[in-house]
Amino acid sequence: MNAKVEHRRILLADYRTPDWLVDSIEMEIDLDAEYTRVLTTMRVRRNPAEPDGSSPLVLFGREQQLLGVQVDGHEIAPGDRELSASALVLRIPEQCEVRIESRIRPQDNHSGLGMFVAGGGVIATQCEPEGFRRITYFPDRPDVMAIYTVTLRASPERCPVLLSNGNLVASGTLHDGRHWARWHDPHPKPSYLLAVVAGNLPHLTDQFLTRSGRSVALKIYASPDKISRCRHAMDSLKHAMRWDEDVYDLEYDLDVYHIVALDGHVGAQENKGLNVFDAQTIVADPDDATDDDYMLIERIVGHEYFHNWTGNRVTCRDWFQLSLKEGLTRFRDQEFSSAMSAAAEKRIAAVSRMRADQFAEDSGPAAHPVKPESFIEVANFYTTTVYEKGAELIRMLRLLIGPTAYLKGIRMYLTRHDGRAVTTEDFVRTMEDASGRDLTQFRLWYHQAGTPQLDIDEHHDATTHTYRLRIRQSCPATPGQPRKEPMHIPVAIGLLDADGRALPLRLRYDVTPCTDTTRVLEVRHSIEEYEFVDVPVAPILSVLRDFSAPVRVTFQRRANDSLFLAIHDTDPVSRWDAIQGLATRAILEAAEDFRVKRPPRIEPDFLNVCAEILSGEADPGIAALLLRLPEENTLGAAAEPPIDLDCIVAGRQFVIGTLARSLRDRWLARYEELANDEPYRPEAIPIARRRLRNLSLGYLAVLGDETSIRRVIHQMDNGANATDRIAALSILTDLDFPDRIATFDRFYERWRPNDLIVDKWLYIQATSRLPGTVERVRALTAHPAFDLLNPAKGKALLGGFCRRNYVQFHEPGGSGYRLFAEMLIQVDRIKPESINWLMPQAMQWRRLDVSRRHLIQTEFRRIIDTPNISRGLYELLANALLEPSASPDSPAMG
Ligand SMILES: [Zn+2]
Repeated sequence: MNAKVEHRRILLADYRTPDWLVDSIEMEIDLDAEYTRVLTTMRVRRNPAEPDGSSPLVLFGREQQLLGVQVDGHEIAPGDRELSASALVLRIPEQCEVRIESRIRPQDNHSGLGMFVAGGGVIATQCEPEGFRRITYFPDRPDVMAIYTVTLRASPERCPVLLSNGNLVASGTLHDGRHWARWHDPHPKPSYLLAVVAGNLPHLTDQFLTRSGRSVALKIYASPDKISRCRHAMDSLKHAMRWDEDVYDLEYDLDVYHIVALDGHVGAQENKGLNVFDAQTIVADPDDATDDDYMLIERIVGHEYFHNWTGNRVTCRDWFQLSLKEGLTRFRDQEFSSAMSAAAEKRIAAVSRMRADQFAEDSGPAAHPVKPESFIEVANFYTTTVYEKGAELIRMLRLLIGPTAYLKGIRMYLTRHDGRAVTTEDFVRTMEDASGRDLTQFRLWYHQAGTPQLDIDEHHDATTHTYRLRIRQSCPATPGQPRKEPMHIPVAIGLLDADGRALPLRLRYDVTPCTDTTRVLEVRHSIEEYEFVDVPVAPILSVLRDFSAPVRVTFQRRANDSLFLAIHDTDPVSRWDAIQGLATRAILEAAEDFRVKRPPRIEPDFLNVCAEILSGEADPGIAALLLRLPEENTLGAAAEPPIDLDCIVAGRQFVIGTLARSLRDRWLARYEELANDEPYRPEAIPIARRRLRNLSLGYLAVLGDETSIRRVIHQMDNGANATDRIAALSILTDLDFPDRIATFDRFYERWRPNDLIVDKWLYIQATSRLPGTVERVRALTAHPAFDLLNPAKGKALLGGFCRRNYVQFHEPGGSGYRLFAEMLIQVDRIKPESINWLMPQAMQWRRLDVSRRHLIQTEFRRIIDTPNISRGLYELLANALLEPSASPDSPAMG
């Protein structure tokens, strides 16, 4: 078959309103052991807005056996129906009732989409983006919204719990001993939000009183061994519900809210009233969840809850609008999480992810706008650009129009479009209406790919007391977009004097004086100039405060100014930025020393600043963030291609070793004084203390002496909580010491019954920087702890290696690339919709040296030559091999 015909590219420009609408749908699902029978009754009518008026009803459907079709109670004539592997086409009256009977086998479905059997024999569904068509025949697209009623029947022994969306309206027992439950969701929704869960799942109950006085029953379901560990998720849910009322004035709209934690599952899904999660992001106790897990649970539970309005009540017209729900909801979960605790740390973590992952995506062949224009496989577009950069767009919007207009705009958006499927354009237009601002230029953020670059020059005039800033913007070419228009970029700045005091920010033509210590400059043209007055001494510029826009900044500042900002800037993101800049420079300079084979050096001033932060910083959580050196992937993204990866790795190792040795006594003092024998609490202060203590442990371990290594092993064996034990294991994974394998085996034997910890054990080994990791990871794929059909384990081991192991993935002999190709082909056979999460590092191949480029291309070719690769893999490889100047519509493959 011709690949180009098979792998059709879908274009945003080809969007057409649906020909047919579905007002209501009733599903009867018999969950029997051999087959699951699905009887679907829909009330359909031709869309009055459809211009043609003659098109048949197209119902998408895959991997199911059609048993019968009735129209208004009569079997359809054979000539009026046409069935293919992907659709059922019906010629029917303008308005009628269509009844379809089909059957499926969830037990054979490993795609992760549709209905499947998860851990513990629990039957569950995942319909976003196109899973519903694996359950029944339906116009499975988000702009067809309907009212759903779902009746489930099953044996009460096998499935004592029967859940779907909305409220329970009836239930009972049948003559044959099976039981049934009927669920009705009064809110119209797209098919991707349908959910069914059935199985043996105990639950935890609570309730929430909404601000208007309605009582909502809250239930979390999990496997019997995990249900006692769901309290933190329940508390997080209640905090999220309260926060959305307090901040956005949004109240929950059903009588029940269910969360189901599935074993061996990956991801979390916001199905209306019935969220389905992987157990890892619900279950937590001090023995198996780290501080990061506790915070992640809070954030993700919040995220899926917030979708109830931003995503469910108002949804996306088509998948090109994915960021409409994901960018906005990601921003809302960031704000919620920051409101709960440690706001500065969380913002810095988000900025760090943007720099490491999204900037890399933007600079590679998979660069795409927040609103993509075409795709072959929609599953490939659940990217950091759509989620993380999408969230930054909302943050910029709020900064530009102000928090009051932003909230007004959100409320207006949700009222205006309630129960509808809309576009990012609808969203931006509402923000314009709410604020009175013209956002025409701002819209480019949705359409132009790539990371804008700001080049900044400054000039201070001591005689006129003026300070001039010149900001020049540009944006590199990305696939299909050789030239870019200037963007509307909010640049938040502050000026400090030599004592660290904030200076006034008066522009020459200000009408009203600016009294804030941070000012947002709106950069709109290719070159902008700003003249500040009443600046008697040369100030120190603090720029892009709070990462006010997702851009790169080049500003030649004096080294001393960076040192100064690292200590004195009042904006935590800028402080972190200053020290990251210093660390990056120190590492890249050492890398250059290695390259030209001269003894590497490090600036004493850099060591002094680190010493001051380590001993003097009041907040240990901030100190830990400031003293954590950039990882190799961030350094690679900051280096000019071709990246000399081996020298970067050596340079980073040298700087870490120097920091460890020269501050040895301080690390030890911090490690000892931050010890804590109080019971574990996942709260900001103890979390901050553990962070710095474990960072200190890691620096001490770099010294490599027996005492230091024994200290880490002791903490792995005797740490009082999962955070300390896992931190120790993560340090050990990069250390070469006698009995290393035996130490890891001992950890496994101890924690073997706890699958959440075992998955971490797999992940940590997959991310080791040590030589021999490729062989170890390959061996682990045959270990009893691993199962390729279990998505959580796949994510831990294969994802850990392919996504997060920068050093050994790019091992100079190419064995990492070989392992990557083997994994990719295997996963593509079982679960083609999920291969994109293995790809990000490989996508950066053009930035590597010649030898590595050659090695990885050999593997790409091996994959292409493999028979029957999926359309998703085809698209990813076509993108990877695209010439940098080409457009994605002209793939380099035949
Ligand atoms: Zn989401």
